[in-house]
Amino acid sequence: MERHCIRCGAPFHGRSDKKFCSDDCRSDYHNDRRRARDKELRTVNRILSSNWRILMQQLRLGRQDVPREELAARNFNFEVYTATRRCFPGRRIYWCYNFAYQISRTGIVHITVGDCRNNA
Ligand SMILES: [Zn+2]
Repeated sequence: MERHCIRCGAPFHGRSDKKFCSDDCRSDYHNDRRRARDKELRTVNRILSSNWRILMQQLRLGRQDVPREELAARNFNFEVYTATRRCFPGRRIYWCYNFAYQISRTGIVHITVGDCRNNA
């Protein structure tokens, strides 16, 4: 039965479970997939590390309560965090590695050093 390589589309003959026309196509396919996964990870890691630096700078300046817009102006990304949990009705706590933060109704971000395995 004629089959088509899932990497280059070339027709080939072989066992029914064979997906590639050649070893080159098989390794290229897996390398591409690995590169795509690494790229995703790098993107998320870059955001987390930037967020972490912003939180650390604020604490170093002795600022535990910072308006949300101020962090946003520094390109803090509120969509990406390492953990989150509801702490009391309507309130959520977020972690960026070892830093924890909550956002009040008035838009103030309260930053603490917290271990996500404990109740921060
Ligand atoms: Zn191929």
